[in-house]
Amino acid sequence: MMISLPACKQAQSLLNFPGGLNMDQFIPRRQKDKVVIVVGATGTGKSRLSIDLATRFNAEIVNSDKMQVYKGLNIVTNKVTEEECRGIPHHLLGTIDPDVDFTCGDFVHHASLAVESIMRKGRLPIIAGGSNSYIKALVNDDIEFQSKYECCFLWVDVSMAILHSFVSKRVDQMAEAGLVDEAREFFDIEANYTRGIKRAIGVPEMDEFFRNESIVDDETRARLLKVAIDKIKENTCKLACRQHQNILRLQNQLKWNMHRLDVTEAFLKRGVEADEAWERVVAGPSTGIVGCFLHD
Ligand code: ATP
Repeated sequence: MMISLPACKQAQSLLNFPGGLNMDQFIPRRQKDKVVIVVGATGTGKSRLSIDLATRFNAEIVNSDKMQVYKGLNIVTNKVTEEECRGIPHHLLGTIDPDVDFTCGDFVHHASLAVESIMRKGRLPIIAGGSNSYIKALVNDDIEFQSKYECCFLWVDVSMAILHSFVSKRVDQMAEAGLVDEAREFFDIEANYTRGIKRAIGVPEMDEFFRNESIVDDETRARLLKVAIDKIKENTCKLACRQHQNILRLQNQLKWNMHRLDVTEAFLKRGVEADEAWERVVAGPSTGIVGCFLHD
């Protein structure tokens, strides 16, 4: 039965007594706009999943990795390449001055603007990245965002042992791709790595190497480089563990309804088989989940 709003209010005043009917259920509510949020530890495949989904749902992506928001360090922070983006527009990716501290408040402000602009184009916003403090600030602490949007959370998860070996190999690949030269641009003679992009894993760890590389023999240089690379691997694994714990906390303490997608199987395979497993255990099920969410 449809009840008009004035009739509904009148009925509410008549029935407004303690223990009476809860008339909230009769007042028509504006449907909230929908936003998809992809979380997961570093290296799990959040970017790939968000781009897969964006190609299937006419979406644009808002980055929520607190180091990838800055200009620079594309290799060190593992930003998606233009080719990997497959033409999907990305917001808040490599746009912020690397010297400023981009706070949770800044993220809430800029991400909200990006979401609104995506909505205005009639597209679906997908927020994706590893910085759970940014996501919590936006979804849990920002009343305005809560009042406007309904969120669907996708959690890309991989067995920690497998992820650690993957991220270690990824650091070796980064080193081959130019991590050292990229990090050298942010070497700080005063060893102050507390602001902006300098906090990125891959910069402070290289300090000792940069300080000594030109004054030591080749053998010492190689040893110092290995120590730095090993430290980057160790800190990246620690970051993955911390991010995993933070996601569990969001789920258990804040009761966020996360759709967990276990990507481990895809990580254990290679080539076509890995792509097939990715589609079967991650991209396919996520497409189903987002489809239901949008048509709900
Ligand atoms: P925290 O409160 O620990 O900062 P968070 O959820 O706000 O957690 P994370 O994304 O977990 O943010 O980042 C924590 C730290 O990990 C960053 O300050 C940075 O040192 C490092 N980090 C995060 N993302 C990257 C990245 N893409 N590349 C390099 N380092 C990163």
